[in-house]
Amino acid sequence: MSKLREFLRQNILWVGLIAVAIPLLAHLWLQYKSLSQLEATLPYQRKAYLRRYLFEVVKKVITTYEEQAEMTLNIPHTAFNHNYPNPDYTPSTAIDFKMVQEHFSKNQFNGARLQFVGIISGRDEPSYVTISFYDPISCSFIFHKEDAESPDSEMQERSAAHAAAANWMAMIMTGTSPKSARPTVDERDPQNRIIVKPIVNEKSHVVGVAGMFLNDQVFLKNYLTPAIAELAPGWFPDEYGDVIVTVLNHEDKLVFANQKYEGKAFEVGWQFQFVFTDWFLGIRMRNMTEEEWSRRYFLTNLAFSVMTAMVLIGGIVLALRTASRAMKLSQMKADFVSNVSHELRTPLASIRVFGEFLKLGRVKGEIKVREYGEYIETESRRLTQLINNILDFSKIESGQKTYQFEQADVEQVVTETLKTFEIVLEQHGFTVKLDKAQQGLPTVVIDSEAIAQAFINLLDNAVKYSGDATEIKVTLGQQNGFVTIAVRDFGIGIASEEREKVFEKFYRVGNVLVHDVKGSGLGLSIVKHVIEAHQGKVTVESELGKGSTFVIHLPTDNSSMPKPVKPSASEDNSAFGHNLQVSSEAGR
Ligand code: ADP
Repeated sequence: MSKLREFLRQNILWVGLIAVAIPLLAHLWLQYKSLSQLEATLPYQRKAYLRRYLFEVVKKVITTYEEQAEMTLNIPHTAFNHNYPNPDYTPSTAIDFKMVQEHFSKNQFNGARLQFVGIISGRDEPSYVTISFYDPISCSFIFHKEDAESPDSEMQERSAAHAAAANWMAMIMTGTSPKSARPTVDERDPQNRIIVKPIVNEKSHVVGVAGMFLNDQVFLKNYLTPAIAELAPGWFPDEYGDVIVTVLNHEDKLVFANQKYEGKAFEVGWQFQFVFTDWFLGIRMRNMTEEEWSRRYFLTNLAFSVMTAMVLIGGIVLALRTASRAMKLSQMKADFVSNVSHELRTPLASIRVFGEFLKLGRVKGEIKVREYGEYIETESRRLTQLINNILDFSKIESGQKTYQFEQADVEQVVTETLKTFEIVLEQHGFTVKLDKAQQGLPTVVIDSEAIAQAFINLLDNAVKYSGDATEIKVTLGQQNGFVTIAVRDFGIGIASEEREKVFEKFYRVGNVLVHDVKGSGLGLSIVKHVIEAHQGKVTVESELGKGSTFVIHLPTDNSSMPKPVKPSASEDNSAFGHNLQVSSEAGR
């Protein structure tokens, strides 16, 4: 159980990622499946939708058209003085033209180009069917002779009106009551579309007929076009500009298109009801077929889902990474405390023992006394260095580290530092070779103390991680506007994947070889900070088992004084840094 917990703790990033990725991928897969299914059925749905739109257009047009036509044709039955077959009535007395005229002018219908009323009358057989035409523009009856001199069109209109009214006329003769007095349409002659309405009296007997010839252009312009335009935005909110509606007539000729288009006239269509039943209303989208439209819908939705999933995964990875880092950091801090306690205890113990020996006078001989004295000095120097590092780290973390920049000679700083470090080196049997720059080095603006501290940290590491090797090379040089201090050892080296990490605070390579060497994990992070505050950089080259070379690069032209670098806000070490600072202040 504890093993599992440990495993989870160490692999939180991967475990968390898998835990999120599996359901997310399953979700994506399901989404993909349902979207593909949708893609297959969508064209049909879409076509049905387009058809429904056409149906609505037709309904709207026809309802208003029929209503208005009916209102116009609904002449009061008293205008027809029928009493068929009363022999006293003649065609001219059978209809009250004045009354009809009044009704027509009160109830105008601009879809009609010609109106008429009809009645059947007569004394004996044969009876006379009389159709009288009314001009809705001049609002008057047109009485003309029916003879061979009448123009063809007039004759055609007359016979079309007779044909359309025939059934109702027959009912007048027989005195039949029709099932419904609603208007009917005769479109046998597309040039003369007619709406007729039987006029019924209070006994529901047909007493006369009213009718009208329709005007195609008015139907298109005043009824169809406005209905298409009015309904489109509601039905196609995002793309109504792309909706192409066409009307083909009985000869399949285009009589109307709401906008210019190329290619096919329609994807789906719908027939008119009531009037213009031989016309065909079609619709399609401008740029794509329904299949293409579905494909686009599928792709956009899928892309959106994938994007959301990516963002989600990204966010979770980020959160897990932060969590894993926080865990690692807290582990590092714990290690740090134990390492530092050890680092403090060892030299303190040596100092105490050697001090006691000296105090008790157990050390005989001047050489021995000097030797013990040197031990005490080295150990206390070591302590000082450790404490300096901790103090520096604390200051860096709380953003209080300041630098005293001044013109200085790097070579001098390095030589003097080496001198103070000599005893330590000697004790460990190390030889240090210093290669000075042949041309000499330019003076640079630095904080000498901070640079010395960084250099000592590198030297200290070179000693600690040299393994069996006992040689250290320090090389001073100049390249590309930088003065360089290189510290080379021939020790255990650093694996390539660790080279960046060693500069992180608390980071220590988890290698068996370094397990024995105690350290705080702060040295290199301080070096990095100090050098970056000088607008310089620190680099490392290393080969496992062959040694490492750390190089400090200090710019020769850092005339603009660098400001102390604040720690990044993302790493929450303030509490830790603060504690260190308090204890360091107390220790002074
Ligand atoms: P430490 O107090 O552990 O030495 P540093 O920050 O100075 O802390 O170094 C971080 C880690 O980098 C060390 O623990 C060590 O693993 C590695 N390291 C530093 N310098 C060297 C070197 N010269 N050779 C090999 N490894 C090194």
